[in-house]
Amino acid sequence: MRVIPLPDGEFVRVSDRPTDDGEFAEPLPFGLDLDDAVAVRARDVVAGDLVLALTLDEGGGLEADHCPRPFQAVPRPVTECTCEGCEECAGLETWTLADHARVADLGWRYVCLVPAEGVEACVIERSNRPVVVVRAERVAQAEAADVPGLRRFTVTYSVEVEARSHAEALQLAPARVRADLDVLEGSCRVAVGTDGEER
Ligand SMILES: [Zn+2]
Repeated sequence: MRVIPLPDGEFVRVSDRPTDDGEFAEPLPFGLDLDDAVAVRARDVVAGDLVLALTLDEGGGLEADHCPRPFQAVPRPVTECTCEGCEECAGLETWTLADHARVADLGWRYVCLVPAEGVEACVIERSNRPVVVVRAERVAQAEAADVPGLRRFTVTYSVEVEARSHAEALQLAPARVRADLDVLEGSCRVAVGTDGEER
């Protein structure tokens, strides 16, 4: 469980994406994960943001409701929705028909995060409702780096130093790491000599 704050101090509790549900079989695109996510109000979503979750009121706070298929936002005011009457838009129509004064409220109260496509209805959200997204910029960055066959490896490296305290050890460590890495790099160069033989 992560707690992702909104810029204004409210926060969203975000559980891991379900793994025991077939609907969620696809991993996030471009090697992205929840560490890349931020929480913003629906009205602050920009084109290209990858929407991972909407939010529910749960236990006195906000909880992420993961989208089985995260989507890149193409936000627009609901009053400018180009869909041809999806169920979500029909729902809004019912809401305004019940009280015609609400028509004027639509524009600021709701935002269409992505218009209907095929069998999928528009995703319409209240403007001030928090949603969990990966920002467009980060998505573009990950997409550019997403070369097929390329995987991310974490290489951890440790050194031993002699010191009298944690603080002193931390202070001494970087120089020691650099020195060790120089030796490593040197040995790599030796290992791939031009004639293919170790020298
Ligand atoms: Zn619609």
